[in-house]
Amino acid sequence: MHQLNPYGQDALTSRLQTIIASGRTPHALLVSGAKGGLLPIALHTARMILCTGEVAAPCEQCQACLMSKSLAHPDLHFSFPTVSKDKKPSTSSSFLNQWRDLVLADSYLSSEEWFDSLDSKNKQVNISKDECLDIVRRISLKSFQSKHKVLVLWLAEYLGKDGNRLLKLIEEPPEGTIFILVTEQKDRLLTTITSRCQDINVPPLKDEAIISYLRERHAIADDDAQTIALLAGGDIQAARKLMQSDTAELPQLMVQWFRLAYIGDPSEMIAFGDEIASRSREDKKQFFKFGLSFVRELLLAQSVGPDAVRLRGQVKASALKLSSVIDASQGLEIAHLFEDMLLGVARNANARLQMTHASLELNRLLKTRRQTIADRSLSTSTIRYGL
Ligand SMILES: [Zn+2]
Repeated sequence: MHQLNPYGQDALTSRLQTIIASGRTPHALLVSGAKGGLLPIALHTARMILCTGEVAAPCEQCQACLMSKSLAHPDLHFSFPTVSKDKKPSTSSSFLNQWRDLVLADSYLSSEEWFDSLDSKNKQVNISKDECLDIVRRISLKSFQSKHKVLVLWLAEYLGKDGNRLLKLIEEPPEGTIFILVTEQKDRLLTTITSRCQDINVPPLKDEAIISYLRERHAIADDDAQTIALLAGGDIQAARKLMQSDTAELPQLMVQWFRLAYIGDPSEMIAFGDEIASRSREDKKQFFKFGLSFVRELLLAQSVGPDAVRLRGQVKASALKLSSVIDASQGLEIAHLFEDMLLGVARNANARLQMTHASLELNRLLKTRRQTIADRSLSTSTIRYGL
């Protein structure tokens, strides 16, 4: 698969392909939706528009595709937020090589990663007035090779009031010009701009797409990729961030905690809790976040069946066993407990105290059902034996 191709968005890209093939591509598109996958969709769309092959999927064979795959097609323009250096005018052109290298390395580049690479601390990041003037200049030039000229404007929410300079251009662009605006925060865009664009809404990804990405692009083993996908919420950028933390052991840890809480030996529960409490804040956050996904899987196992569970191997087997000893209301109470713990971690609450409390609560919640089951079997036997 080509490095710029988006993962898991076949339905959306084939819809876009049909629009482009019909020759009725709107002259301004606004790509928004699930934050982690917007830029790959915008780049793919631009490449489909410029492709001169029979099936512009893009074809990867024609001259246009050969140039656009390295983001070097003369009629493919880019604009994005930058910082002003040494009070010189700040335009995307002066940062283009840096941006292109990062995008070619991974088109799921996040805005945070881009700003970090700009060394933007304490500096204003924006799409400046100079950049807006430069866009007007670039768009008014004749196209070089293609009948189209495409401008991908990434993170359009960083257009300030100078964005108004582009209004006329977006409304009545020169023939063959297509704007592809990308935004992570659509509500921050000027309505005068959004109203001139056709919306392209990017849905969150399924786990399988995230797993493929992690496996193919970062050589991550399936089981680890599965755990990351559970936590990433359909967002490849979130998955990339998770790759840097130690998520692989989370499933085993969670099963171990549930087991200890189910057995209810106080000294073992406290020792386990202390170990988790000694970890970094980010690790504790991931622990409880994974806990929430884990509870969700337990509830799915009950309501839909084992096939719906997205865990694997021994962890799945343990989860299925656990799902038979809790009911839906306990599951929800455990989820609330984990949400409270997440808030506590965010507020920097005393971690050891928090973990002891969480273990005891988990024990109590698991015991409630055991009690109910015991009561029920007792009452059954009462009836059966007529006691
Ligand atoms: Zn092509």
